[in-house]
Amino acid sequence: MRFSRLLIPTTKETPNDATLASHIYLIRGGFIQSVGGSGLYNFLPLGKKILDKVRAVVKEELDKAGCQEVSLSFVTPAALWEESGRLEKYGKELLRFKDRKNNDFILGPTHEEMMVNMVRQSVKSYKQLPLNLYQINLKFRDEIRPRFGLMRGREFLMKDGYSFHASTEDLQREFALMEETYKKIFTRLGLEFRVVDADSGAIGGSGSKEFMVLADSGEDTIVVCPDCEYGANIEAAVAQSKSYDASTEIKVVTMKALYDEGVTEIVEFVLEESELLEEVKACNSINANDLVDVENPNTVDRRMIDNNLKECTVYENPEYADISAVQEGDACTRCGGALHYSKGIEAGHIFQLGTQYSEPLAANFLDENGKAQPMVMGTYGIGVSRLLAGIIEQNHDDKGCVWTKESAPFDLQIIISNIKDEAQVALGEKLYAAMLEKGVDVLLDERKDRFGAKMKDYELIGVPHAVVIGKKLADGVVEFIIRDGMKKEEVSALAIADLLLERF
Ligand code: ATP
Ligand code: MG
Repeated sequence: MRFSRLLIPTTKETPNDATLASHIYLIRGGFIQSVGGSGLYNFLPLGKKILDKVRAVVKEELDKAGCQEVSLSFVTPAALWEESGRLEKYGKELLRFKDRKNNDFILGPTHEEMMVNMVRQSVKSYKQLPLNLYQINLKFRDEIRPRFGLMRGREFLMKDGYSFHASTEDLQREFALMEETYKKIFTRLGLEFRVVDADSGAIGGSGSKEFMVLADSGEDTIVVCPDCEYGANIEAAVAQSKSYDASTEIKVVTMKALYDEGVTEIVEFVLEESELLEEVKACNSINANDLVDVENPNTVDRRMIDNNLKECTVYENPEYADISAVQEGDACTRCGGALHYSKGIEAGHIFQLGTQYSEPLAANFLDENGKAQPMVMGTYGIGVSRLLAGIIEQNHDDKGCVWTKESAPFDLQIIISNIKDEAQVALGEKLYAAMLEKGVDVLLDERKDRFGAKMKDYELIGVPHAVVIGKKLADGVVEFIIRDGMKKEEVSALAIADLLLERF
C-alpha cells in the first residue's frame, strides 16, 4: 500500500475522554473514530485491517479444533428470550425495540437463545452430536458506563461459540479443547495472559474460566498464587480459611437481594471487621440474581455468616458461606503460597452451561435408547474488538503502538525521507516492488511531508519494522528499525534487499 493513497487520519490531539494508552493511540493513529454517542466506533481502514487479522487468527484456530462458523441474525425476536426467561432478568443493558407491526425485538448482547433455536430445529439424534458452532459478529450491550475506547464499548465484535453434547463428560472434553484452543489464539497474538477460575453463578464449581490479558489498566482483579498454577477472578477466588477467636470484632453488611419475579429479601452478611464483602460470592451464597444497597431496613429476612467466623459466632442456627474477598497474603488452598493480586483485562470466557438453556427452550435429542434428553451445552466467548485494546495496553511506549507480529497492520514500512531526492525514491520503489513480489505486506511512505512528521506517524502507527531511506543514502547507507524499543541499525543500501528477504 502507498501511504499517500490511504485514509490514515493520524492526529496529535488526545481525545479528552481518553485515559488509557490503547484508547488514545487507537484514535490518534487513525485506527478508529468515535461516533457521537459514547461506546460507538467506526473502524477506519487500518483498524479494520487489524480487526480482520485478529479475527483470522481466531477463526483459523477454531476451525482447526473442529468448530464451524455460522452467522446469526443480530436483531433477535424477544419471544426467544421470553422462552429462556432472560427477557425479564436482563436489565437495561438489553436494547429492546418494536418493528412497524409492533413485534418486540432486542439487539443481541449474546446469542445462546438464537443458537439453541438454530440447533433445536435440525438436530434430533445423538448421532448428530457433538457440535460446536460459532460466529464472529456484532453485539450490543447498553453498558451503563461505556469507556476506555474499544475496551468497553456498547457495540462490539465478539466471537461467540456454543457447543452441544449428549453427555456432561463430552462437554468437559470439549471445554478442555476450547481452553487449549484459546491458549493457542492468545499466544499467537503475542499476548501475556493467564487463565483463571471465574464466577459460575450459583452453580459454582470450576466450570467457568476467564482469559485475562495482564495489564495494570485492567478492570478485573485476579488473585494469583506465585508458587503454583492457581489463579482466579476475585469474584470466584478462594483461600484457606482463617480462624478467628471469640473476641474478634465483626461487622454486618446489609443488602437487598433480588430474586425472580420481583421477589426481594433483606439480608445481613456478617464478616470479621477487617474483611471485605465479595458481592458476587455473597449473591451466589443465597442464590439471588443481584444485590443492591439498602438504607435503614426495618426487618431482616436472612443472615449469612462468613466461613472464617465459623468458630466464633453466637447466632442461633447460623448459615455459613464463603462471602469474604480473598486478601493479599491469604494462603493458597492448593499449596499454601501467599496469594497476591494482579490486574487483568477479560478477553475471553468459557463456560459449562449444562442444560440451563436447552431445558427451557426444549432443545432435546433422542439418546441411544430412544429417550428424549436436553442437550448439554457449553459457551465460549472472545472479545475480538476488546483484544485490539488489550494488545496495545501490553504493547506500547510513549510514542505510540507496537503491534505484535500477527496483529500488525503491515509487516514492514518503507519510509522515503525526501521524495524530491530521485535516488531515495528509486530505491524505495525498488524495495517496495520486491517486497510486494515476495508477498510481504508493506506500506510505502512516499508522502510529500517532512521527514519528522513521517517518523512520528511511524512510531504512532506501530508497524513492527521499517526501512528509512534518508540522506545517508549518498554514502550508500539506509536504516533498519525494529519498532519494539526503536532499535536502529545502519545497513548498506546494497544489502538491504537481501536482509529484508531473509527476515520476511
Ligand atoms: P465484562 O465483565 O467485562 O463486562 P462479561 O463477563 O459481561 O464482560 P461475557 O458475557 O463473558 O462478558 O462476553 C464475552 C467476552 O466479550 C468478554 O470476555 C469480553 O472480552 C467481551 N466483552 C464483553 N463486554 C464487552 C464490551 N462492553 N465491550 C467490548 N468487549 C466486551
Ligand atoms: Mg464474562
